[in-house]
Amino acid sequence: MTSHSTVIGGSSAPRVIACPGSLNLSAQAPVQEASDAADEGTMLHEAVAYLITHPDIDPVKLIGFVHEGHTLTKELFDELLMPALNRFGILQAGYGPFPFEVEQRVGSCIKDGWGTADVIGWNNEHIIMIDWKFGRGVYVKTEENKQALFYASGARHTEKWAHLFESDRKIVISIIQPAFDVEPAWETTIDRLVRFDLELMAAMKLAEQEEPVYHDGDHCRFCPAKVICPLLNNEIMTFTAELGPRDADKLGELMTRIVLIKPWMAAIEKDAHKIATSGQAIPGFKLVPKRGTRKWDADEDVIAHNLKLLEVNPYSKKILSPAQAEKALKTSLPDGWVKTVSSGTKLVPEADAQKAVPDIATSVKALARKLKHV
Ligand code: SF4
Repeated sequence: MTSHSTVIGGSSAPRVIACPGSLNLSAQAPVQEASDAADEGTMLHEAVAYLITHPDIDPVKLIGFVHEGHTLTKELFDELLMPALNRFGILQAGYGPFPFEVEQRVGSCIKDGWGTADVIGWNNEHIIMIDWKFGRGVYVKTEENKQALFYASGARHTEKWAHLFESDRKIVISIIQPAFDVEPAWETTIDRLVRFDLELMAAMKLAEQEEPVYHDGDHCRFCPAKVICPLLNNEIMTFTAELGPRDADKLGELMTRIVLIKPWMAAIEKDAHKIATSGQAIPGFKLVPKRGTRKWDADEDVIAHNLKLLEVNPYSKKILSPAQAEKALKTSLPDGWVKTVSSGTKLVPEADAQKAVPDIATSVKALARKLKHV
């Protein structure tokens, strides 16, 4: 069985700072296959890196690009790739245009530690670290982002980039996540990178202790050790014992636990599905097909021809998406032209960086105030 490494990297550093015990526990956990979303993200990273280093190429030409079985569809192009390129363009307009390099291996203050920075850019006053995040499920806060700090600090410890840090440049961290409306960049200092190194070194010292130190929290979500984590296993055991009358306070308490337990359950489900698809039965469960979607079962030209014979127009006209329009305009759309429509609300932990919707009582009071003045 392959296992996770104990070498610190960009994605593990924030978790080890929050939970030092996870470093060695992860090494004992079975390696999970990359999820579809992660593979899709890798394909989008490849595509965006190619496009920003080949500005003469029309981005549309990349629709249909395949990387390790994942295709850049029109939908991914419109919803994620173009908005990411546009945000990169806005950064370039704000700080440059600055020279940059993509996919740069950087070191760490920790021996053998390393990571890959998506983009390192620079000008006379700034060092610009860009991290692409193409996920649609988890919003990542830019300010104080430890993964980005790891890459920035790593660049400082890398021979190729160390000279940039010799003069007092500002560090610009930009996490480009096209699925979310986020602040374009966070500016910090080289001193912050030095403090980050101290935090990381202190966590590594705790990680190497004989008695592991575990802390649960948001960082558990992507921890490879969650299926074997003693803290999470204990949460599960006590969770069911505590179910009882549920008022708002109790629900808050239970929701906090559910946030921790859900990824644990998802990891178990994933393991069980993997075993079942390998041909081994999981007692009490069976494999069934996922819900199917209807697709044309012939060449599209033939279908179009046949529909025309039936006097049906096979094509529909679609207006450009905001991302396509921005691309055509080569600038942002005027204020008030675009709105972001949410399909509803979801309950997330208070610490989540997204802005809360106004609570119902406040909205009702505001409405009552308005009505009074009509
Ligand atoms: S699941 Fe959470 S508490 Fe357990 S080792 Fe991982 S990060 Fe630490």
